[in-house]
Amino acid sequence: MNFKNKVVLITGASQGIGRVIALKLASLGATVALNDIRSQEGNLEALKSEILNSGGSAEYFMADVSKFAEVEIMTKEIESKLSKIDILVNNAGICRDKTFAKMTPEEWGSVIDINLTGIFNCAKCALPSIVLNKGAIVNISSIVGQRGNFGQTNYSAAKAGIIGFTKSLSKEVGRFGVRVNAIAPGFIETKMAEVIPEEMKITVKKLTSLGRFGTPEEVANTVAFLASDDASFITGSVINVDGGLSI
Ligand code: NAP
Repeated sequence: MNFKNKVVLITGASQGIGRVIALKLASLGATVALNDIRSQEGNLEALKSEILNSGGSAEYFMADVSKFAEVEIMTKEIESKLSKIDILVNNAGICRDKTFAKMTPEEWGSVIDINLTGIFNCAKCALPSIVLNKGAIVNISSIVGQRGNFGQTNYSAAKAGIIGFTKSLSKEVGRFGVRVNAIAPGFIETKMAEVIPEEMKITVKKLTSLGRFGTPEEVANTVAFLASDDASFITGSVINVDGGLSI
């Protein structure tokens, strides 16, 4: 896999899975445009330095993906500084878990706005450049978008929405040579998984064929494959990276 001369925008890149996707793609030659919200500027700066120090190419751009106007400015800045966007990795996401009975409209709205509308905003603004460059989009969904999960009606709805979005957009842009795919991770060792109660972690590991949580690297490897020319006939697909949890 070679990403030389490719510009890749990764949202939510300051930590967790997004950070490792950025490191992976930069190590494969990509120029990475690192996005996160303003409060993560320190982490973005540190990640940019880490990539530059290892001989890679990176720049960071702060924007809240749920705000269309901010995403529009960000994509213009990327195109002006890095000249184009070839690949978009829609990774930014949050969860605000509660049973439906206790969930507030704000907890519903913020999860839908960031996890789902954020993907619309980024794809909408980056697509003209992606089409010009016959690039690709990789969206990070979740296995709970296929199976549901107790306490996650908001998150599961957003992640299921990403799957429908991925399949529909892939049908619309295939004729331009653009591929759109999604990844559905199971439980991955990041800050997001730290809040899971210990007894639930034990149950999840028991239900996972490989008997453990996945690593961000294992998701990043799949992103790299789907974004690369090695996946040239794959579009509209959802690849589970879940150690067998969903079967
Ligand atoms: P993470 O460590 O919390 O990273 C997500 C990043 O997105 C954070 O830096 C977060 O910033 C940022 N972000 C939040 N709101 C944003 C916004 N409005 N605009 C731009 N960036 C924003 O989570 P992760 O575990 O790496 O998850 C990455 C993706 O994988 C998410 O889409 C998640 O739903 C998905 N996923 C994760 C798992 C898992 O087990 N970890 C499983 C399945 C799917 P703040 O921290 O400041 O909010």
